[in-house]
Amino acid sequence: MGNLISTILKEKCPFCEKGNVFKKVSFLHLPEMNEQCPVCKRDFTGEPGYYFGAMYVSYGIAVITAISAFLICRFIFGIKSVNITIASCIISIILISFKNFRWSRIIWLKIFPPGANTNFSNKQLK
Ligand SMILES: [Zn+2]
Repeated sequence: MGNLISTILKEKCPFCEKGNVFKKVSFLHLPEMNEQCPVCKRDFTGEPGYYFGAMYVSYGIAVITAISAFLICRFIFGIKSVNITIASCIISIILISFKNFRWSRIIWLKIFPPGANTNFSNKQLK
């Protein structure tokens, strides 16, 4: 489990834990995914709309981030102000959103590997 978390944090392929999931782009560009793992060649593309589900994972990460920010404000810094607490929840979600986009897709890949049991190609319909 700890290994899986470090794989996700390092943005490595969730199957072989070696290849990079995302292409190296400069900080300001939108992250671009590799079409397959450069090491184990697992498919990262999936069927159209495959990464729609990663949105739910992303939402979960945002909620966990906000709860963590709240707990840190309240119990570590002892902040009682509701406004400051809400502001720090929002700021922490914005700060983590760059990483959240990447992490949620890697977690989604791990939960539902593309093509495993979801072959919707025309071959099956014939
Ligand atoms: Zn791989």
